[in-house]
Amino acid sequence: GLDLSALESWIREFARLVADRRDELTELDSAIGDADHGANMDRGMSAVVTALEATPPTDPAALLKQVGMTLVSKVGGASGPLYGTLFLRMAGVAGDGTLDAETWARALRAGLDGVVARGKAEPGDKTMVDALGPACDALDAAVAEGASLGEALRRSAAAAAQGRDGTVPMLARKGRASYLGERSVGHQDPGATSATLLVDAAVTALA
Ligand code: ADP
Ligand code: MG
Ligand code: MG
Repeated sequence: GLDLSALESWIREFARLVADRRDELTELDSAIGDADHGANMDRGMSAVVTALEATPPTDPAALLKQVGMTLVSKVGGASGPLYGTLFLRMAGVAGDGTLDAETWARALRAGLDGVVARGKAEPGDKTMVDALGPACDALDAAVAEGASLGEALRRSAAAAAQGRDGTVPMLARKGRASYLGERSVGHQDPGATSATLLVDAAVTALA
């Protein structure tokens, strides 16, 4: 299962990282998009934290559902519905109980599958999928090897960072950056960068 207070720490840590890195995310989006990714994510995650305090969820599925619904309703850009879907899909497999690597791997994979179902991005399209996909693959590998939760989370964060860095030479095929064609090459994808923060937050909050 997933653990309510652990998940809440994860969400709060993600909100904190997004607020901290807001300008960097916006800067990346100014190169290949419309310079709002930092603002979008910060607005969304601030609303998420406000909602957590106003209406404290009582189980993991309710928490993830609230996060997802808040992002869908507060973030107008591509990232709102995509991150919203990620959390809503995670809610669908949440369960309740002690957090372990296998459950976490399954939950994040469900979230990624939702992002792909909604956004139709393939690996290599220069999107958040290029960070989340490697993170999920690393979790699966760690689980198969019987790694601890902490070890699995650290390996997934390293894989996400590598995937994020790997977006630099890619040609964007989805979202606004795709309008730039060849001019999108040579820039790090903003969504892959925020998705890496999501995975980093899990190391801090869950390991
Ligand atoms: P917008 O492009 O509407 O301004 P944001 O700037 O908040 O939205 O988010 C842009 C990020 O969304 C991109 O960097 C990319 O990672 C991600 N993205 C865009 N379209 C897709 C898609 N179809 N599938 C997955 N991720 C996508
Ligand atoms: Mg944008
Ligand atoms: Mg926008």
